[in-house]
Amino acid sequence: MEKIKMTTPLVEMDGDEMTRILWAMIKEELLEPFIDLNTEYYDLGLQYRNETDDQVTIDAAEATKKYKVAVKCATITPNHARMEEYDLKKMYKSPNGTIRAILDGTVFRAPIIVKGIEPCVRNWKKPITLARHAYGDIYKNTEMSIDKPGKVELVYTSEDGEEKRALIQEFKAPGIAMGMHNMQASIESFARSCFNYALDTKQDVWFGAKDTISKTYDARFKQVFQEIFEKEFKEKFEEAGLVYFYSLIDDIVARVMKAEGGFIWACKNYDGDVMSDMVSSAFGSLAMMTSVLVSPQGYYEYEAAHGTVQRHYYRHLEGHETSTNSVATIFAWTGALRKRGELDQNEALVNFADKLEKATIMTIESGKMTKDLAIITTLENPQILNSREFILEIRKTLETL
Ligand code: NAP
Ligand code: MG
Repeated sequence: MEKIKMTTPLVEMDGDEMTRILWAMIKEELLEPFIDLNTEYYDLGLQYRNETDDQVTIDAAEATKKYKVAVKCATITPNHARMEEYDLKKMYKSPNGTIRAILDGTVFRAPIIVKGIEPCVRNWKKPITLARHAYGDIYKNTEMSIDKPGKVELVYTSEDGEEKRALIQEFKAPGIAMGMHNMQASIESFARSCFNYALDTKQDVWFGAKDTISKTYDARFKQVFQEIFEKEFKEKFEEAGLVYFYSLIDDIVARVMKAEGGFIWACKNYDGDVMSDMVSSAFGSLAMMTSVLVSPQGYYEYEAAHGTVQRHYYRHLEGHETSTNSVATIFAWTGALRKRGELDQNEALVNFADKLEKATIMTIESGKMTKDLAIITTLENPQILNSREFILEIRKTLETL
């Protein structure tokens, strides 16, 4: 069989630990036998990030601007333990944070639905895609511990010397305080990313915030979404038969639990962080969750939602077999290959991505799966495979399609 050709490279960002092992297996068994893989390779493994003073992460993000599509393996975000383990020159920032700061945009996370892995919420029949704003709020906050009576104020001084002040609290006793911000442009691009992604994937958009309590901050998010929707998207949504609505976050949460899925839930940064973990575990497993960063300029970076699966890696290093689920990493590749194919009008590549996803799902539905799924499946007598066996079974299924 002739291999599929690629006209434009994909930005490939390799990573760390167990996911790095899976990455190599996926390429060897599921991609390279079928595609003349054309990637520009960046090694975001911690050792090479350290050798390059993290320049490689910046280069990879810049390359994503050039080629528009990237696929990323999970990477270690260094902490004190990692400083020692890898003898690091400094405690580098999270690669995802660095990449998001360069590309801007919104992270969309969606569960991969298979028969036999049933959501805990019985009425969820279709995936719920979580759109998480990836800039600001408490992730870029300033905090203070107050240890004796005094007052805390918010002070703004404009460049031309104008001053605005607001009292946060007159402390009569010890306490805590916090200041945070967001940017008009970032909120606007968040809104546009959500509406564009909705049109791309033919799904409604639900957005929730707390504007009844936060009358300036959250109210701004609500207002920006409404204005951009009215001006730029209303007609396109009507043509596509789609709906956008805003409600209070607590009302949205209640509706989500009663809904059947099949929509995009837009969340502010913190809400998205927390709710995506709830939604993914309620759908079955973190290892069955895809994640894509969509920038307002139309750059796409695909990855798995989980980390480097450190515990499994240490077992692997000790020479034990692991049963690590590669599905989300496979879907990161198929997402990127499909998008590459769409942008390049490379139908063969799009078809291949569809087939590989189908083969992956069929393999699990036939009862062959990794341990994390075997524990929760409703299928009887699942066959537990190790990391490589599972990938080889997917290959067998793929070759029948
Ligand atoms: P993790 O890698 O997501 O794994 C946490 C636990 O979830 C695992 O120990 C495992 O449970 C289970 N799990 C996750 N993915 C799995 C898979 N594919 N197959 C089977 N089980 C899976 O999180 P972590 O261990 O807290 O973090 C490890 C490293 O990943 C950290 O250095 C962190 O900085 C990094 N991280 C990176 C990203 C990213 O690059 N996007 C995201 C999050 C974390 P059992 O051990 O019980 O089997
Ligand atoms: Mg989280």
